[in-house]
Amino acid sequence: MNMKLNNLVFSLRKIKVKLNCKSQRNLYEPTRMNFNKRLFLWLSLAFVFATVIGTLTHECGHYVVAKSFGYHARINYAFTLWYDPNNIEFTNSTYSKYQKEIETDRDFPEKEKYMKIIEMHNRNGFWIGLGGPLETMLTGTIGLIFLFLFRKSFENQTKLTLKQWLLIFISLFWLRQLANFVGWVGYYMVTGELRERMDEIHISTHFNLPQFTIPALTGLIGVIVLLTVIFKFVPTKQRLTFIASGLVGGIIGAILWLGLLGKVIMP
Ligand SMILES: [Zn+2]
Repeated sequence: MNMKLNNLVFSLRKIKVKLNCKSQRNLYEPTRMNFNKRLFLWLSLAFVFATVIGTLTHECGHYVVAKSFGYHARINYAFTLWYDPNNIEFTNSTYSKYQKEIETDRDFPEKEKYMKIIEMHNRNGFWIGLGGPLETMLTGTIGLIFLFLFRKSFENQTKLTLKQWLLIFISLFWLRQLANFVGWVGYYMVTGELRERMDEIHISTHFNLPQFTIPALTGLIGVIVLLTVIFKFVPTKQRLTFIASGLVGGIIGAILWLGLLGKVIMP
């Protein structure tokens, strides 16, 4: 009899625990992650545009610095081309005439003048190279500062406003640094070669640092910014949709602009 009573009490307790769990789950329902198809489409589209805008404003950073040195500069879909209009004829003709001497560091006519110009271009080239990443990181930092200034408005939100999403996308300019680093590592893993044509690599080399230093360091800051945005500013309910749209939109944006459309629209 006693055993039966004990069993009954135990069963009742189990039911009570189950009921408690259910009521707790209901209580937290508004803050649980869920997938919102409509939001996913809008955010994916925003990520596609952000990829293009992020790339072009980055190139503007290179362009502005090149122009400030008096160089001719032109932006295409993924690069900034620049040259020195005052000396290009001289340097080109000297190089084609004395390529062997230049490469083996032997004497040739007007060597001093040629070397002075090349050194000047190398010096200025460093600042032009810095202009792009600086624009990217500065814009991202400004976005992040505004996010923190308005952090109160993000508290207990289940849905962000357009203005709040805009601040998030501006601070995510930092994602470029992360994408660059991941791309650089990925390229090495696939081809076994270290890609050298990258702004951040040039900056590392300029300061005599190991090549990976600046890509890794700025990529790490990119991760920290991304995690801060996801876990501090994007509401729990919209988090999953945001992450999914970021991956899909970012990849589509890169393929669409860098691989397909960019060449046609801005050759
Ligand atoms: Zn660049």
